[in-house]
Amino acid sequence: MKNLLALNIPDIHLSLKQGDIQVQTLLDEAYEKIERNSLNTFITLFKEDSYNKAKKLQKRIKKGKDIDILTGIPIAVKDNICVEGHSTTCGSRMLCNFTSPYSATVVKRLEDRGVVIIGKTNLDEFAMGSSTETSFYTSTKNPHNSEYVPGGSSGGSAAAVAALEAVAALGSDTGGSIRQPASFCGVFGLKPTYGRVSRYGLVAFASSLDCIGPITHNAVDSAIIMEAIAGFDPMDSTSLPEDVPQYYYELTKGMENIRIGVVRGKLMERIEQDVRDVMDEFTDGVKSTGIQLEDVDIAGFDVCIPVYYIIATSEASSNLARYDGIRYGWTGEDEYNALREMYEMRRNKGFGEEVKRRIMLGTFSLRAGYKDKYYDKAIKTRQKIRIDFEEILKRVDAVLLPTSPTLPFKIGEKITNPISMYMSDLCTVSVSLAGLPAISIPAGYRNGLPVGVQLVGRRLEEGTLLKIAYFIERTGLIETNKK
Ligand code: GLN
Repeated sequence: MKNLLALNIPDIHLSLKQGDIQVQTLLDEAYEKIERNSLNTFITLFKEDSYNKAKKLQKRIKKGKDIDILTGIPIAVKDNICVEGHSTTCGSRMLCNFTSPYSATVVKRLEDRGVVIIGKTNLDEFAMGSSTETSFYTSTKNPHNSEYVPGGSSGGSAAAVAALEAVAALGSDTGGSIRQPASFCGVFGLKPTYGRVSRYGLVAFASSLDCIGPITHNAVDSAIIMEAIAGFDPMDSTSLPEDVPQYYYELTKGMENIRIGVVRGKLMERIEQDVRDVMDEFTDGVKSTGIQLEDVDIAGFDVCIPVYYIIATSEASSNLARYDGIRYGWTGEDEYNALREMYEMRRNKGFGEEVKRRIMLGTFSLRAGYKDKYYDKAIKTRQKIRIDFEEILKRVDAVLLPTSPTLPFKIGEKITNPISMYMSDLCTVSVSLAGLPAISIPAGYRNGLPVGVQLVGRRLEEGTLLKIAYFIERTGLIETNKK
């Protein structure tokens, strides 16, 4: 079978415009691959809707007028982002029968540009996890080796892109959920600056950290999708009013005098040897391109995991209070005698283990008498982590560090040990706490499994990250092993 979905968006666009391929052909390929691969990447497929849309778009293409570069591009959406008229499960039994009454701003913006959404991808329940194993709809497999996890929580999105089931996907990143699965699956994952992309229509996990961003095969597609979804949205009170640059057009501009800070020091001692080796080889490669490098040491890595887990669980415990089985959620079939019993029964059976653990942790951190000891302290430390990053980013344009401290791990390896699972977030959560943009790019392979590295940029400078990623990609340093 042809690998049309492996082409970048500008090439697909050209083929569509020249009449070499049709939108339906792209959909045929996507759906056939999804079925054949059986990686459990999707929770819901939008076959009927997408073929109907394809027909309309194909007519428009035939007329040949003002065809947007995103017209007819098949994109997958993580199942915690609402698409009107379709279910949004969040990988939870709690929302197994919930239908989105409206579309997220990101979805509207993409659809307005002619994107075809092919379905909703699997995720850790309510985006809580690093392996996609906490999904009520069972785990997704890594396309590079089906015994391994694809990372998480956007594991379905990253695996779908890596397995060429979609041109690109949307993910959400609260503490690493776009970057870490992108790294585990050998694709590109961009977490924007907090507030750069609207969260309207994204089911809230930890509202001060949640971000939506693209997962793609290359830097060009990231730039194109980012340009389409970013920008102010009156429906999101934390949305930033700044103008959105032309990321795609500017990809090749201003690469002179770029300086990258390479993270050394204490953090690297906690990184698995294989990952360190890939990072070293990658850094040597970057150096040979003429980009200036300097060593940097970032403080705060020793505290970022506890700080993140206090803040994220506190916010989650409050956000998830709405699932009471009355206003929202699964109602179950069990008998109950009193109101309180009904809440208990529905929340107990509607949520999985990890979600309940986090609600308890968060409720504990926010309890009277404990709040200043945990939550308030975590907020203060969060400011320090941000300031530390910003100081370093005054000297360098981006900071380079591994995306994950380990190679992809086996399905079942960490799921019974929450602390070791939380440690997977070592390299990503501090960036989320600082609210900064970061992109994970494929850097190499070990034992046939992908290893990614992460570039962290200044606030609102996702354009710089995309330029560097694009530049490095063109030097051939990025090894993608398309399935
Ligand atoms: N793995 C992290 C967690 O479990 C991050 C999740 C995310 O970014 N949604 O909280």
